[in-house]
Amino acid sequence: MDKKKCAVVMVDMLNDFVTGALKCDRGLATVPHCKELIEGCRKLGVPVIYSNDAHLKGVDHELKLWGDHAIEGTYGAEVVPELKPAEGDYVVKKRRYSGFFHTDLDLLLRELGVDTVILGGLHTHMCVRHTAADAYQLGYDVVVASDATDSFTKEDYEYGISYLKATYGAKVLTTKEILAELGK
Ligand code: ZN
Repeated sequence: MDKKKCAVVMVDMLNDFVTGALKCDRGLATVPHCKELIEGCRKLGVPVIYSNDAHLKGVDHELKLWGDHAIEGTYGAEVVPELKPAEGDYVVKKRRYSGFFHTDLDLLLRELGVDTVILGGLHTHMCVRHTAADAYQLGYDVVVASDATDSFTKEDYEYGISYLKATYGAKVLTTKEILAELGK
């Protein structure tokens, strides 16, 4: 991994996904790993991008299935306190599972000269997976931080990881392994 061509994309580490409307204890357990990944990347000069749900209440298709969550402008749509964006980070709002769908994430990555996205956040088998799908299809290499992502259940997590490996050739590494590779 060439750190000049990588960016970390942290998916939906928002209050509603961790402690709120769609709370997830396994997601809460990933917070220290997400923090280590984000802080390590900042130190190495690797861009940190937050891909955050920001739904329009009463409008977004996805809310019919999941109920209201991460409604734009609410506390539930804010990044969890431990992982707050810092100066120099990027925040890209989304209204669907994929961080790329009708957002400017691809434009941002291209202008930053990124060819490899390092994914973390929630949920491995849903928003992380759909973001990985678009990243792959747009020509990016995909790395997944295995301890900085999770799902509601262990089964969903394991299914997500194996799907990412098999379908997008995702490199699955721990946060420590990723930071060690980027620091070389
Ligand atoms: Zn959503």
